[in-house]
Amino acid sequence: MDLRAHIRGIPDFPKPGILFYDISTLLRNGPAWRAAMARLAAIVRPHRPDLLAGIESRGFLVAAPLALELGLGFIMLRKPNKLPGLTIGLNYALEYGTDRIEMQADAVQKGQRVVLLDDLLATGGTMAAGINLLRQAGAVVPAAAALIELTFLGGRARLDVPFEALIAYD
Ligand code: AMP
Repeated sequence: MDLRAHIRGIPDFPKPGILFYDISTLLRNGPAWRAAMARLAAIVRPHRPDLLAGIESRGFLVAAPLALELGLGFIMLRKPNKLPGLTIGLNYALEYGTDRIEMQADAVQKGQRVVLLDDLLATGGTMAAGINLLRQAGAVVPAAAALIELTFLGGRARLDVPFEALIAYD
């Protein structure tokens, strides 16, 4: 299965100059989605996670089915003010401005192993923030993974855990 054939690049979205890698076409294709999850499962399983975490919103589409595949629970890292109950959050820098992610304070028990997933690694800022937030919650983060990596942006250098992606664009 050539997963790359199921991802399309849409120029100038959401703003001029950005080539947006659209995973909708992968998700629309049952066998391709299933193959992607099977390959990620093989990458993630050796890290022996207790839980998987996904970053809103396309990261949910990777982490939740993968958690089911591996028989694990799933945690949401969300945009601000979306989660009920006591939350913890982390602000992080974007190219222009800042963003924030939050999670429920009681989502992880101290020392639990949580692998973090997203659809795509670009500059790595989002994934690095997610890893640090999970640590704040008491997790050990043994690895992170994504469907796609934009290698020319060097995002993995910002991560202090092993990272793998199924498809790389350079
Ligand atoms: P970054 O923090 O720069 O690594 O950006 C990663 C986040 O932004 C991920 O959650 C992606 O979904 C999204 N993202 C960044 N660049 C792109 C792109 N070229 N195509 C699709 N999604 C992107």
